[in-house]
Amino acid sequence: MTRLSAATPSGHAHLGNYLGAIRRWAREGTDEDLYFVSDMHGMTTSYNPQRLRSLSREMLATLIGSSISPDRVFVQSDITAQLASLTWILECTCTFGEVARMIQFKEKSAGAKTVRLGLLTYPVLMAADILLPGADEVPVGEDQMQHVELARTLARRFNTTYGEAFVVPKAVTPKVAARIRDLANPDRKMAKSTRDEAGVVFLLDDPDMIRRKFQRAVTDGLDQVEYRPDEQPGVANLLEILGACTDQSPRVAAESITTYRELKETVADAVVEELREVRKRTQDLLADPAELDRIRATGAERARQRGEHRLEAVTRLAGIG
Ligand code: ATP
Ligand code: MG
Repeated sequence: MTRLSAATPSGHAHLGNYLGAIRRWAREGTDEDLYFVSDMHGMTTSYNPQRLRSLSREMLATLIGSSISPDRVFVQSDITAQLASLTWILECTCTFGEVARMIQFKEKSAGAKTVRLGLLTYPVLMAADILLPGADEVPVGEDQMQHVELARTLARRFNTTYGEAFVVPKAVTPKVAARIRDLANPDRKMAKSTRDEAGVVFLLDDPDMIRRKFQRAVTDGLDQVEYRPDEQPGVANLLEILGACTDQSPRVAAESITTYRELKETVADAVVEELREVRKRTQDLLADPAELDRIRATGAERARQRGEHRLEAVTRLAGIG
């Protein structure tokens, strides 16, 4: 069974990425799994090339620093040739209507003066990411469900039209810590692309910074530590984070705490503890570019080999090459 998932280097990795995705990949993964830095997905709107390159390295180091085996990781653009070939074949299997109705496309293109074609076609590239290595399961957040659904549709369509070549993948969503909220604004999720960083805990933040962000976390005036996500979203978020870091349910985590101050200190301590080793390992790797390059090159070669046969078969069935 192969699981495949990715993190886009559109910013620094944060606690939501870690608890909702990266830590899970590290813990639950099998030897067949693949995790990649989706740097090509970071080009669909205006971006800075130097920053993309540096964030890609940082994300690669973060995945390994989070204890995902270096054997399981690679950087997407290191297999551009394969992905570009497969994307074209899939684009010719996909209709304009199918990509134009993607919610993320509609959201990101709404009100924009110009829209990059890549923003429209990026779900097809994502389908290629998934279908090339024959992933069975794709752990994603709810915002990506529709894109995985498209990958399923294209796989089935190709298989029935041209011949059996693709595994039809399944989307899986996590139950716990699926949506960590912004500490300063509990109405929205913690995200890399948020401009105001006050409520976003980055994995590479130092302990002082982490404590400060939790101290300033927005709660409410009810003054009771209970897990009630609808009535007390800020407090519930802190309890979810605490629960995730201490491997207990948010409800149980709430039981031993009485004041908001105590809650904020306890959750800050738990997060600092949870991230201590991750941060150290990530920084050590970033300080050793030769080692990071070596891991990256090995991962690229492994990913390329993994996709080779399927791409050959697909190309042949499609009547080209
Ligand atoms: P962006 O703002 O660029 O969309 P992001 O922070 O949403 O960035 P993604 O690269 O879109 O991060 O997502 C990487 C992984 O992290 C996905 O599996 C996604 O579901 C998960 N994830 C992102 N934000 C959160 C969050 N706040 N809570 C839990 N999981 C999250
Ligand atoms: Mg996102």
